[in-house]
Amino acid sequence: LIVLENVNKWFGPLHVLQDVNLSVARGEVVVVIGPSGSGKSTLCRAINRLEPISSGTITFDGQPLPAEGRALAKLRSEVGMVFQSFNLFAHKSILQNVMLGPLKVRKEKPAAVKERAMSLLDRVGIASQADKFPAQLSGGQQQRVAIARALAMQPKALLFDEPTSALDPEMVGEVLDVMTSLARDGMTMVVVTHEMGFARHAANRVVFMADGQLVEQNTPEEFFANPTSERARDFLSKIL
Ligand code: ATP
Ligand code: MG
Repeated sequence: LIVLENVNKWFGPLHVLQDVNLSVARGEVVVVIGPSGSGKSTLCRAINRLEPISSGTITFDGQPLPAEGRALAKLRSEVGMVFQSFNLFAHKSILQNVMLGPLKVRKEKPAAVKERAMSLLDRVGIASQADKFPAQLSGGQQQRVAIARALAMQPKALLFDEPTSALDPEMVGEVLDVMTSLARDGMTMVVVTHEMGFARHAANRVVFMADGQLVEQNTPEEFFANPTSERARDFLSKIL
Protein backbone atom coordinates (compact mmCIF):
# COMPACT_ATOMS: atom_id res chain seq x y z
CA LEU A 1 0.00 0.00 0.00
CA ILE A 2 2.88 2.37 0.87
CA VAL A 3 6.19 2.08 -0.97
CA LEU A 4 9.24 4.28 -0.41
CA GLU A 5 12.14 3.86 -2.82
CA ASN A 6 15.53 5.51 -2.36
CA VAL A 7 13.97 8.36 -0.46
CA ASN A 8 16.28 11.19 0.52
CA LYS A 9 15.49 14.33 2.45
CA TRP A 10 17.79 17.21 3.22
CA PHE A 11 17.09 20.10 5.54
CA GLY A 12 19.79 22.41 4.19
CA PRO A 13 23.05 20.53 4.78
CA LEU A 14 21.34 18.00 7.07
CA HIS A 15 20.69 14.64 5.38
CA VAL A 16 17.74 13.46 7.49
CA LEU A 17 16.49 10.60 5.30
CA GLN A 18 19.23 8.65 3.55
CA ASP A 19 18.20 6.28 0.78
CA VAL A 20 15.25 4.93 2.69
CA ASN A 21 13.48 1.90 1.21
CA LEU A 22 10.38 0.70 2.95
CA SER A 23 7.15 -0.92 1.94
CA VAL A 24 4.06 -1.36 4.02
CA ALA A 25 1.50 -3.90 2.88
CA ARG A 26 -2.23 -3.47 3.29
CA GLY A 27 -3.23 -4.45 6.82
CA GLU A 28 0.34 -4.37 8.08
CA VAL A 29 1.38 -2.64 11.30
CA VAL A 30 4.91 -1.24 11.18
CA VAL A 31 6.46 0.25 14.30
CA VAL A 32 9.31 2.72 13.76
CA ILE A 33 11.80 3.16 16.56
CA GLY A 34 15.14 4.90 16.93
CA PRO A 35 17.01 7.61 18.78
CA SER A 36 15.90 11.24 18.87
CA GLY A 37 16.71 13.05 15.64
CA SER A 38 17.02 9.87 13.58
CA GLY A 39 14.31 10.98 11.15
CA LYS A 40 11.25 9.08 12.39
CA SER A 41 8.88 12.06 12.30
CA THR A 42 10.24 13.20 8.95
CA LEU A 43 9.61 9.72 7.55
CA CYS A 44 6.02 9.77 8.82
CA ARG A 45 5.38 13.25 7.52
CA ALA A 46 6.84 12.36 4.13
CA ILE A 47 4.26 9.61 3.68
CA ASN A 48 1.32 12.01 3.61
CA ARG A 49 3.43 14.75 2.09
CA LEU A 50 3.38 17.09 5.03
CA GLU A 51 7.09 17.08 4.20
CA PRO A 52 8.13 16.99 0.53
CA ILE A 53 11.12 14.74 -0.13
CA SER A 54 14.31 15.78 -1.92
CA SER A 55 14.70 12.69 -4.11
CA GLY A 56 13.38 9.17 -4.55
CA THR A 57 9.78 8.09 -4.89
CA ILE A 58 6.88 7.38 -2.59
CA THR A 59 3.77 5.68 -3.88
CA PHE A 60 0.51 5.20 -2.06
CA ASP A 61 -1.96 2.65 -3.36
CA GLY A 62 0.02 2.41 -6.59
CA GLN A 63 0.15 6.15 -7.29
CA PRO A 64 3.04 8.58 -6.75
CA LEU A 65 2.22 11.09 -4.01
CA PRO A 66 0.50 14.11 -5.54
CA ALA A 67 2.21 17.45 -4.95
CA GLU A 68 -0.82 19.69 -4.62
CA GLY A 69 -4.46 20.40 -5.21
CA ARG A 70 -7.39 18.10 -4.95
CA ALA A 71 -5.27 14.97 -5.32
CA LEU A 72 -3.18 15.99 -2.31
CA ALA A 73 -6.30 16.65 -0.25
CA LYS A 74 -7.55 13.19 -1.21
CA LEU A 75 -4.24 11.63 -0.17
CA ARG A 76 -4.39 13.38 3.20
CA SER A 77 -7.89 12.04 3.77
CA GLU A 78 -6.76 8.53 2.87
CA VAL A 79 -3.67 8.66 5.08
CA GLY A 80 -4.76 9.85 8.51
CA MET A 81 -2.27 11.15 11.01
CA VAL A 82 -2.27 11.21 14.80
CA PHE A 83 0.31 13.42 16.49
CA GLN A 84 1.84 13.66 19.93
CA SER A 85 -0.16 16.84 20.55
CA PHE A 86 -3.78 16.06 19.85
CA ASN A 87 -4.47 19.22 17.83
CA LEU A 88 -8.21 19.24 18.51
CA PHE A 89 -10.19 22.41 17.85
CA ALA A 90 -10.60 23.93 21.32
CA HIS A 91 -13.79 25.86 20.52
CA LYS A 92 -15.60 22.91 18.98
CA SER A 93 -17.26 20.02 20.80
CA ILE A 94 -15.83 16.52 20.69
CA LEU A 95 -18.54 15.46 18.25
CA GLN A 96 -17.93 18.51 16.03
CA ASN A 97 -14.21 17.77 16.01
CA VAL A 98 -14.87 14.28 14.66
CA MET A 99 -17.48 15.46 12.13
CA LEU A 100 -15.50 18.37 10.71
CA GLY A 101 -13.33 16.57 8.15
CA PRO A 102 -16.10 14.54 6.49
CA LEU A 103 -18.37 17.62 6.41
CA LYS A 104 -15.88 20.23 5.18
CA VAL A 105 -13.40 18.21 3.15
CA ARG A 106 -15.64 15.47 1.85
CA LYS A 107 -18.94 17.37 1.79
CA GLU A 108 -20.81 14.38 3.14
CA LYS A 109 -24.38 14.56 4.45
CA PRO A 110 -24.52 15.71 8.10
CA ALA A 111 -26.85 12.95 9.28
CA ALA A 112 -24.64 10.16 7.99
CA VAL A 113 -21.50 11.87 9.30
CA LYS A 114 -23.03 12.29 12.73
CA GLU A 115 -24.03 8.67 12.92
CA ARG A 116 -20.54 7.52 11.92
CA ALA A 117 -18.90 9.99 14.32
CA MET A 118 -20.99 8.74 17.23
CA SER A 119 -20.19 5.15 16.45
CA LEU A 120 -16.47 5.99 16.27
CA LEU A 121 -16.65 7.84 19.59
CA ASP A 122 -18.32 4.76 20.99
CA ARG A 123 -15.56 2.61 19.57
CA VAL A 124 -12.85 4.66 21.33
CA GLY A 125 -14.94 4.76 24.53
CA ILE A 126 -15.84 8.48 24.53
CA ALA A 127 -19.45 8.50 23.31
CA SER A 128 -20.71 9.89 26.63
CA GLN A 129 -18.39 12.92 26.25
CA ALA A 130 -19.56 13.88 22.75
CA ASP A 131 -20.94 17.28 23.73
CA LYS A 132 -18.01 18.34 25.88
CA PHE A 133 -15.10 20.48 24.74
CA PRO A 134 -11.51 19.19 24.42
CA ALA A 135 -10.29 21.02 27.54
CA GLN A 136 -12.86 19.14 29.63
CA LEU A 137 -11.27 15.79 28.71
CA SER A 138 -8.12 14.11 29.96
CA GLY A 139 -5.12 13.79 27.65
CA GLY A 140 -5.85 10.13 27.03
CA GLN A 141 -9.45 10.91 26.15
CA GLN A 142 -8.38 13.73 23.83
CA GLN A 143 -5.97 11.44 22.02
CA ARG A 144 -8.74 8.86 21.59
CA VAL A 145 -10.89 11.63 20.07
CA ALA A 146 -8.00 12.46 17.72
CA ILE A 147 -7.97 8.81 16.61
CA ALA A 148 -11.75 8.86 16.08
CA ARG A 149 -11.34 12.06 14.07
CA ALA A 150 -8.75 10.41 11.82
CA LEU A 151 -10.99 7.35 11.39
CA ALA A 152 -13.96 9.53 10.45
CA MET A 153 -12.29 10.14 7.09
CA GLN A 154 -12.32 6.37 6.48
CA PRO A 155 -8.58 6.31 5.80
CA LYS A 156 -6.76 3.48 4.06
CA ALA A 157 -3.82 3.93 6.43
CA LEU A 158 -3.04 5.70 9.68
CA LEU A 159 0.26 7.26 10.72
CA PHE A 160 0.98 7.77 14.41
CA ASP A 161 3.87 9.95 15.56
CA GLU A 162 4.53 9.26 19.24
CA PRO A 163 0.82 9.28 20.09
CA THR A 164 1.38 8.54 23.78
CA SER A 165 4.52 10.58 24.49
CA ALA A 166 2.65 13.61 25.81
CA LEU A 167 0.37 11.59 28.09
CA ASP A 168 0.53 10.97 31.80
CA PRO A 169 1.61 7.36 32.33
CA GLU A 170 -1.78 6.20 33.58
CA MET A 171 -3.39 7.26 30.28
CA VAL A 172 -0.98 5.56 27.93
CA GLY A 173 -2.71 2.18 28.18
CA GLU A 174 -6.15 3.36 27.10
CA VAL A 175 -4.72 4.88 23.91
CA LEU A 176 -2.58 1.83 23.14
CA ASP A 177 -5.65 -0.37 23.65
CA VAL A 178 -7.52 1.55 20.95
CA MET A 179 -4.51 1.31 18.62
CA THR A 180 -4.15 -2.41 19.29
CA SER A 181 -7.80 -2.96 18.48
CA LEU A 182 -7.39 -1.07 15.18
CA ALA A 183 -4.35 -3.18 14.38
CA ARG A 184 -6.30 -6.38 15.06
CA ASP A 185 -9.09 -5.16 12.78
CA GLY A 186 -6.64 -4.91 9.89
CA MET A 187 -5.92 -1.18 9.70
CA THR A 188 -2.66 -0.40 7.91
CA MET A 189 -0.57 1.51 10.44
CA VAL A 190 2.84 3.15 10.68
CA VAL A 191 3.54 3.91 14.31
CA VAL A 192 6.48 5.86 15.72
CA THR A 193 6.58 4.98 19.39
CA HIS A 194 8.78 4.21 22.36
CA GLU A 195 6.20 1.75 23.68
CA MET A 196 8.01 -1.52 23.18
CA GLY A 197 5.08 -3.49 24.60
CA PHE A 198 2.93 -2.23 21.73
CA ALA A 199 5.71 -3.07 19.27
CA ARG A 200 5.93 -6.63 20.63
CA HIS A 201 2.21 -7.30 20.72
CA ALA A 202 0.70 -5.35 17.85
CA ALA A 203 3.42 -4.88 15.23
CA ASN A 204 4.01 -7.15 12.26
CA ARG A 205 7.38 -5.49 11.74
CA VAL A 206 9.75 -3.26 13.64
CA VAL A 207 11.88 -0.77 11.74
CA PHE A 208 14.93 0.68 13.45
CA MET A 209 16.23 4.06 12.25
CA ALA A 210 19.44 5.84 13.15
CA ASP A 211 20.98 8.95 11.58
CA GLY A 212 18.41 9.05 8.79
CA GLN A 213 19.03 5.47 7.77
CA LEU A 214 16.77 2.51 8.04
CA VAL A 215 19.29 0.33 9.82
CA GLU A 216 17.31 -2.87 10.25
CA GLN A 217 13.80 -4.24 10.06
CA ASN A 218 12.44 -7.50 11.31
CA THR A 219 9.52 -9.14 13.06
CA PRO A 220 9.27 -7.96 16.67
CA GLU A 221 10.20 -11.43 17.94
CA GLU A 222 13.41 -11.50 15.90
CA PHE A 223 14.26 -7.84 16.36
CA PHE A 224 14.03 -7.85 20.14
CA ALA A 225 15.67 -11.27 20.52
CA ASN A 226 18.46 -10.81 17.96
CA PRO A 227 19.09 -7.21 16.89
CA THR A 228 21.80 -7.52 14.24
CA SER A 229 23.29 -4.01 14.27
CA GLU A 230 25.44 -2.45 16.97
CA ARG A 231 23.24 0.69 16.84
CA ALA A 232 20.08 -1.28 17.52
CA ARG A 233 21.68 -3.28 20.35
CA ASP A 234 22.93 -0.05 21.89
CA PHE A 235 19.51 1.60 21.55
CA LEU A 236 17.67 -1.36 23.05
CA SER A 237 20.09 -1.57 25.97
CA LYS A 238 19.19 2.01 26.85
CA ILE A 239 15.44 1.74 26.67
CA LEU A 240 14.63 -1.79 27.81
P1 ATP B 1 12.44 12.64 17.92
O1 ATP B 1 12.56 11.24 18.48
O2 ATP B 1 13.16 13.62 18.76
O3 ATP B 1 11.03 13.03 17.61
P2 ATP B 1 12.85 12.09 15.08
O4 ATP B 1 13.49 10.77 14.88
O5 ATP B 1 11.39 12.20 14.90
O6 ATP B 1 13.27 12.64 16.54
P3 ATP B 1 12.97 14.16 13.10
O7 ATP B 1 12.05 15.07 13.79
O8 ATP B 1 12.49 13.46 11.88
O9 ATP B 1 13.60 13.10 14.10
O10 ATP B 1 14.25 15.02 12.73
C1 ATP B 1 15.38 14.51 12.03
C2 ATP B 1 16.42 15.58 11.92
O11 ATP B 1 15.93 16.62 11.09
C3 ATP B 1 16.78 16.24 13.24
O12 ATP B 1 18.16 16.50 13.23
C4 ATP B 1 15.98 17.51 13.23
O13 ATP B 1 16.62 18.50 13.98
C5 ATP B 1 15.94 17.86 11.75
N1 ATP B 1 14.73 18.59 11.36
C6 ATP B 1 13.46 18.15 11.49
N2 ATP B 1 12.58 19.03 10.98
C7 ATP B 1 13.33 20.06 10.50
C8 ATP B 1 13.01 21.29 9.83
N3 ATP B 1 11.75 21.63 9.54
N4 ATP B 1 14.05 22.10 9.49
C9 ATP B 1 15.32 21.76 9.75
N5 ATP B 1 15.69 20.62 10.36
C10 ATP B 1 14.71 19.78 10.73
MG1 MG C 1 9.85 12.80 16.10
